[in-house]
Amino acid sequence: MTTISEQDITVEKTQNSKLKDTDFNNLPFGKVFSDHMLISRYKEGSWSIPEVVPYQPITLDPSAKIFHYGQSVFEGMKAYKDSNNDIYLFRPLENCKRLNISSKRLAIPEIPESYFMEGLKKLLKVDQDWIPTTSGSALYIRPFVFASGNGFHASPANEYIFIIATAPSGAYFSGKVTVAIEEKYSRSANGGVGYAKAGGNYAGQFYPTQLAIDKGYNQVIWTDDTTHEYIEEAGAMNIFVRINDTLITAPTSDRILDGITRKSILEIAKKEGIDVNVRRISVKEIVEAAKNGSLKEMFGSGTAAVISPISGFGYKNKDYTLPELDDSYASKLKTLITDIQYNRSEDPFNWRA
Ligand code: PMP
Repeated sequence: MTTISEQDITVEKTQNSKLKDTDFNNLPFGKVFSDHMLISRYKEGSWSIPEVVPYQPITLDPSAKIFHYGQSVFEGMKAYKDSNNDIYLFRPLENCKRLNISSKRLAIPEIPESYFMEGLKKLLKVDQDWIPTTSGSALYIRPFVFASGNGFHASPANEYIFIIATAPSGAYFSGKVTVAIEEKYSRSANGGVGYAKAGGNYAGQFYPTQLAIDKGYNQVIWTDDTTHEYIEEAGAMNIFVRINDTLITAPTSDRILDGITRKSILEIAKKEGIDVNVRRISVKEIVEAAKNGSLKEMFGSGTAAVISPISGFGYKNKDYTLPELDDSYASKLKTLITDIQYNRSEDPFNWRA
């Protein structure tokens, strides 16, 4: 695969910066977009050298295969600014690798690592003033690839577009959430695309999630597709359960996304001396632990919210409440991981880039 360096990437600057019109003290999550984006096009078997261009709409043919066959994958990551205004990414190569793992599964050509990494660095240099500095805020980064090639034939496209767009985003704080343990629908199956960040995986979650919202919950806990007896993910996050003092999370599989926050939390927890257990967790075990008081915490983990504590869950028409803890693993681990991300602490794992 071709290797490029940052100097190979051309920049076309916008004539109408939105920077001055943006209220950085009042940022929603993922709704305001920075001035520029990175773009590369795949044609005749190769990716073009990526370019930084003004953030703009793209024109597609109505028969572009993305519209019909959902051939698209994406990533979610963040850039952070520390108190000296130095910029950091968190394990960015992991996102690049995962994008290509997802692409492979969707028969999308992989993007050369240097196009992603050097392209991202260049884009962040051009749009560095878009990285917010208010507490908890960051620049949310959305790399994605989709089939732009056309034809009403259910087969892979011959043309694709890779874009990285960014959105300065405020702290993603949803408060504690209540969740419904899913008894009927599945987000993924063995041999399927659950481990990929494929656009359609999320479309398939919206309807069951809305049913849970209509019943008064905020989110769905996904269970395995065959028995619905084991918990797997929390909405678009990985899931952790604390029973007594042991932190448990499900092993990654065909059905579960290999979350970067999840694997970082596992390493931090181990270093902190927390008893960590990666194994299947049955709903029965969680219900019993909730009944006998050994269920201490449940939380989701992901780039956007980092850690999202769960205050209660519903299962088979019964609601269960989790205790309020002063010394939760959730808050301890969130502090430790965000201190690394924002360069407020040492980086013993070499994750900052
Ligand atoms: N599971 C799913 C289904 C997700 O979409 C995400 C968000 N990327 C995660 C887990 C968490 O992954 P990460 O920690 O890499 O953001």
